[in-house]
Amino acid sequence: MSNPGVPAKLPGLLGDELSAWVVALAALVAGCLLSAVLATATHAYHKQQLRQRFELLASERYSRIAERFEEQEQRLDGLRRFFSYSSEITPREFDGYARPLLHRTQAYSWAPRVEAAQREAFEQRASAWLGQPYQIRDRDAQGAWHRAPARDYYYPVLFTQAASRQGQPYGLDLRGQALREATLARALSPGSMAVSAPLDMLSVEPAYTRGLLIVAPVFADTAVADAPPSGYVMALLSLRQLIAESLPTVADDNLVVRILDLSGADGHEVLFDSGNPPAPMDLASNHLLHLADHHYQLDIRASQNFLAANRSSAVTVVSVLGVLLSLMLAALLYSLFNQRQRALGLVARRTAQLRVSEQSLRETHNQLRSVLDAATQVAIIATSLRGVIGTFNAGAERMLGYSADEALGRLTLEDLVQPEELHRRGHALSQRYGREVGAGQAMFAETVQEGAGEPADWTLVRKDGSHLLANMLVTAVLDEQGLWVGYLAICIDVTERRRVHEALAARDRLLEKLSDEVPGGIYQYRLDADGHSCFPYASRGLHDIYEVDLALLHQDAAAVFERIHPDDLERVRRSVRYSAEQLTPWREEYRVCLPRAGLRWVRGEATPELGDHGCTLWHGYLTDITDLKRVEEELRTLSVTDALTGIHNRRYFQERLRGELDRAQRDGLDLAVIMLDIDHFKRINDQFGHAVGDHVLRSLCQRIGHRLRRTDVFCRLGGEEFMVLCPGSNAGQARVLAMELWQGVRSVPVEGVGRVTASFGVAGWRPGEGADALLLRADAGVYTAKQAGRDRVEGEVP
Ligand code: GH3
Ligand code: MG
Ligand code: MG
Repeated sequence: MSNPGVPAKLPGLLGDELSAWVVALAALVAGCLLSAVLATATHAYHKQQLRQRFELLASERYSRIAERFEEQEQRLDGLRRFFSYSSEITPREFDGYARPLLHRTQAYSWAPRVEAAQREAFEQRASAWLGQPYQIRDRDAQGAWHRAPARDYYYPVLFTQAASRQGQPYGLDLRGQALREATLARALSPGSMAVSAPLDMLSVEPAYTRGLLIVAPVFADTAVADAPPSGYVMALLSLRQLIAESLPTVADDNLVVRILDLSGADGHEVLFDSGNPPAPMDLASNHLLHLADHHYQLDIRASQNFLAANRSSAVTVVSVLGVLLSLMLAALLYSLFNQRQRALGLVARRTAQLRVSEQSLRETHNQLRSVLDAATQVAIIATSLRGVIGTFNAGAERMLGYSADEALGRLTLEDLVQPEELHRRGHALSQRYGREVGAGQAMFAETVQEGAGEPADWTLVRKDGSHLLANMLVTAVLDEQGLWVGYLAICIDVTERRRVHEALAARDRLLEKLSDEVPGGIYQYRLDADGHSCFPYASRGLHDIYEVDLALLHQDAAAVFERIHPDDLERVRRSVRYSAEQLTPWREEYRVCLPRAGLRWVRGEATPELGDHGCTLWHGYLTDITDLKRVEEELRTLSVTDALTGIHNRRYFQERLRGELDRAQRDGLDLAVIMLDIDHFKRINDQFGHAVGDHVLRSLCQRIGHRLRRTDVFCRLGGEEFMVLCPGSNAGQARVLAMELWQGVRSVPVEGVGRVTASFGVAGWRPGEGADALLLRADAGVYTAKQAGRDRVEGEVP
């Protein structure tokens, strides 16, 4: 049968799978978007940081450059003041002052004003000072030196202190070149300072050739107003040296620095360019630099080095981490959602199962309720741990007379039991467990102590106060965790059972008594189909009869058969078999050989019936008939004995004759009879009296009896007639015996009477002949002997 739940689950699972994917995808997209936003924000923040860092660097660089410009101005101003306050300065003093100033400056020079008239004298004096020929000169565009043409005045370089050791431009007239002269022209007032347009410096290292000339006019203290400067102090600056020195090398510099001269005639001239490649970024800073009377533009941009030094992997990290986290989150969500969906599915299935279980439980509960109510013969009472009744079924109501409403929650199990019995059992349990067991706990003590009690009979008290005897089993009620939550008592009214039991016991006792009292023993004997036999029941009397252990007989009857006399055993067995086969009553008398009582006679009677599995079951009795047998034997002896002579009588003779005839006929044996009759016995009676006659009879019988063989049967037929039955003897042998007897009778006289004789007739049995015919022939023999004169033996009559 197909399960209807299975097809419904498949789409459900697909749907769960799909929704888990959607959630995971959404989480991935959202995570990636968030990562992008974060990366963008990180990028913007990084850019801002870069800008701030750049601004800081640029501002610091600007400050340093500006400081250096200012420093140059201050030093030149210092030199100016040195010249202003000194009337005469020797080359040595100049060197002493100017040398320490040569820091980031190519050269310091002093060019005094020399009037045309003083030229010669000045040149001579200068030659003396310098210790070398000195003249005022110009330098043409090709770099060649010429004596300066005559001018109104000159500003020739007199002293110069340069960083380079190359030839110094002594005597160079500043007015000889338009650019220098124009610079001088802009510094005419005291305290002013002018800077030249960019120029190629002389006598400096080639790398530093391009530079600036700063000039400052020196006025003598004593100079009158509007007097021209007495000379100029100058500083030659190489912008490369000034700016690049003590700053990071181009390769390491984070900044690209350019200084532009904005006042050049040919537009902007780049005075300084650090030359390192700028970063492809919009990071630039422009400043104005002041040097003397000039403005320069300082362009600072971020170099590629700056970019490399401040490269941030944060964005990459954020992006990669973001994507990774998104992926993980998506995977996690997928897994969680999937699990949740599965859990929900599981919950749904479990709920359905629980519903089915609940339904089943309800049905079971109803069935249980029905069972409880249907069990009207059994009281089922459930209690709490404190014994308060919680369930009281219809059987309990019927048995105890309380309604369920009266019992539930109001009565305890203890209330239903006879108080004296509770106390008695509580006391017994206290002794058994070695601790105090209260009366109220007597019913539960065994259950508590040993896990489960045994059913026991209790005297319960009905609502009307009457008592009933109930068999009660108290067990523990466990919850699903195996904890005890109460007790369950199941009671069966055993009053009737007890009554029946007692009646049966009385019957048993009566039976026991009867079987003990009756003579002999009564028994049940079982013969199984396989030949095994036993006595399922044997009363005590059977022990006296067989002198065997009765317990053994319950298992096996062999001991009984061992006691039976060997001559009787087969007969008994045969009769038992016959009784079993024919189902006819068994009756047997036989001898038993007992260890103590010796040989005893037993009579048994039993009636058979068919039992289970092909067995036969007899119920009967056995009795000792030894005494009876003895009386019987005596009676029988009496019945076949002649009272006067003590030999067998006529009845016995006839019985034996029949038996012996049968035997002879059956076995083909010989048989003969001898008959004798006392001669003239009447006379003896008459002569000596009847008593003497009796004496003669006894005396002759003794005499004949002594002469007979053990197998011969001697009988008195009546009066003074006797018969000897000779089994195994033919007529001839019998005649010989008869002759001996005849002699024995006649040869010795009877005391007080004298000689007594008798007449003998002999007859041998002929096959097929009857008793009467045989006797008749013997009688005929006697008759013939009488006729022949008596006192003789007559042979067989043909
Ligand atoms: P015979 O030679 O012809 O046999 O003569 P008999 O006298 O023996 O003949 P009969 O048979 O007529 O007599 C038998 C007698 O025996 C008769 C009877 O009185 C006697 N008698 C029978 N029974 C007893 C007995 O028990 N005791 C005594 N004393 N006499 C008996
Ligand atoms: Mg006679
Ligand atoms: Mg006679």
